[in-house]
Amino acid sequence: MTATCPTCSWPTPTPVSTHGTIRYLRCVCGKWLIEERGAVLATAGHSTLSDPQLPGDEPSRLSTPGRS
Ligand SMILES: [Zn+2]
Repeated sequence: MTATCPTCSWPTPTPVSTHGTIRYLRCVCGKWLIEERGAVLATAGHSTLSDPQLPGDEPSRLSTPGRS
């Protein structure tokens, strides 16, 4: 059983290590997947989900002070 990467939907991340029922897999996109019994518990690595400041996704300046 392999987990599908939630980031890039890669179907077969590479298993790196196993600890009991927990498996650590590395995806081609650079993400680490933590899997238990075929279910992805968490991911780590190059994640944009944990980055609150995405470039280009900042709220635009709605106010234009000083215009006269
Ligand atoms: Zn991936």
